[in-house]
Amino acid sequence: MKFLICVALLIFIYWYFFKRKKKFLLNQSKESITEFVLDENCQTYIRKEEAIKVEINGKCYYFCSKKCLNDFLQKKLKLQP
Ligand SMILES: [Zn+2]
Repeated sequence: MKFLICVALLIFIYWYFFKRKKKFLLNQSKESITEFVLDENCQTYIRKEEAIKVEINGKCYYFCSKKCLNDFLQKKLKLQP
């Protein structure tokens, strides 16, 4: 009886890890599809879905935070005559 419980437990652990591994692999493949965009202000790459998207003069810009967006806008305004 004890042996049976041990086997059942082993099967359960194996099944549990196998399921987790599959889930992990699924997450990984999802990750590789994720698009990265450049933050024009701090020059870092961020995930598109996490980025703040702003359209200026028909061009799309992405920022990691509102602070970066504001900094960029201020820089742009200074550059313009
Ligand atoms: Zn930034």
